[in-house]
Amino acid sequence: MALHRMLTENTDTLVDAVYQDLKKSKHETMFTEIQAVDYEIGYHLEHFKAWLEPTKAIAYHQPAYANEQLRVEKCPQGVITAISPWNYPIRLTLLPVVGMIAAGNVVVIKQSELAVRTTATLTRLLRQYMDPRICRVVNGGVAETTVLLEQPVDHICFTGSGQVGKIVALAAAKIHSALTLELGGKCPAIISQIDSADLETVAKRIVWGKFTNCGQTCLAVDYILVEKTIHAELVNKLKLAVKEFFGETSKLSPDFGRIISNNHYDRIHSLLSQTKGAFVLGSLDDCDKSDLFIPPTIIDGLTSDDILFTQELFAPILPILSINSHIDAIQYVNQNPHPLALYCFTSSEKVQSLVSNNTRSGSLVFNDTMIHTGSHSVPFGGVGPSGLGSYVGKASIDNFSHHKTVMIRSISGLTTKLDDLRYPPFAGPNNEW
Ligand code: NAD
Repeated sequence: MALHRMLTENTDTLVDAVYQDLKKSKHETMFTEIQAVDYEIGYHLEHFKAWLEPTKAIAYHQPAYANEQLRVEKCPQGVITAISPWNYPIRLTLLPVVGMIAAGNVVVIKQSELAVRTTATLTRLLRQYMDPRICRVVNGGVAETTVLLEQPVDHICFTGSGQVGKIVALAAAKIHSALTLELGGKCPAIISQIDSADLETVAKRIVWGKFTNCGQTCLAVDYILVEKTIHAELVNKLKLAVKEFFGETSKLSPDFGRIISNNHYDRIHSLLSQTKGAFVLGSLDDCDKSDLFIPPTIIDGLTSDDILFTQELFAPILPILSINSHIDAIQYVNQNPHPLALYCFTSSEKVQSLVSNNTRSGSLVFNDTMIHTGSHSVPFGGVGPSGLGSYVGKASIDNFSHHKTVMIRSISGLTTKLDDLRYPPFAGPNNEW
């Protein structure tokens, strides 16, 4: 309830803080951050008691356990360190915290030093609204987080890059804590066997899934794999969708954000300078460091050895690769680390089942992008290099609880007779078996 009050009484302050950090529009901050956390709070308030109910276990064809009470209780794990990134600074800080607290834990929050305004605002508000016996905030960069990671806690929940995820995993091993890693990677969008009439919708959903938050989303479409036959038509539709969303001059659009920092701007600018592809939308000349502005950029005519395919882009850059068919796409996806999300646009059920049965990813979405993260009734998380463990809704309660087996044995009657089966001596009087 305190978190809900904090969000509702300070909505404008929080929206403004995110705007200062990322130039995110109010609509986007409400939709992708504040409302999402608030929905999670309401969902937990309604269901957390039921989700925490012990599960009765039934002895399955095991007569030795037939008379016992056997159940699994979900207990608090204890103290959880929650480390968050800068790109959705409200959502990714608070969304896991809702389930951590609902499961009865105590939380230490460490936000990103790059989302300067939001981190300062949330720190002030969390200290004002939350009971310090339940929720504490510590701030800092690498040095402070390194010290934080040495503290003996029961669970570390980290959202951020795979590189830092490895450091966190080693730190968790040293203190024997449970671990959740919510990491990133390159999320592909496969486009195969789709009607020409549907390409406009496909293009809009991809443009939304790429350029929301200026491409700085873990679930953003990182690149497109499109069948040769529809490639040219799709590129045209993508260009039209960008213009429809952000106008002729995206720099003037109130709905197009900015890059978080000079370092990230330089990283993205360097990628654009080194690509061998053709700019079909956006250009190096359009970039403006003084405004941390990189335009919505579409790059075509690429080969898979291009620099744009060597790392997670986390930028408003959309590279496109041609494929002969979905078989090529499946092969390409499998040659690369398992993504956080895999998107596939197709009207063929056969392609759907082939993609589903032959790829691995944190989540798999057909005919849309990113929208699955709005559903709180399914777990959110990666697999392998894109993450470990999952949360949101009931999955949070499961992930941030210790599942304790409780058995109550009777101390007389039939059970004691069965005890004889396990006590030595096992051999007969003449030592025979
Ligand atoms: P990051 O890994 O650089 O930083 C994340 C957090 O770790 C920050 O709080 C930061 O202060 C801390 N940190 C940074 N370096 C550290 C170090 N050496 N030791 C200890 N702590 C350190 O990530 P970022 O740039 O903030 O976020 C972008 C990355 O996060 C992308 O890879 C993106 O895909 C991923 N991400 C994943 C999700 C998800 O839910 N799976 C969501 C958002 C972002």
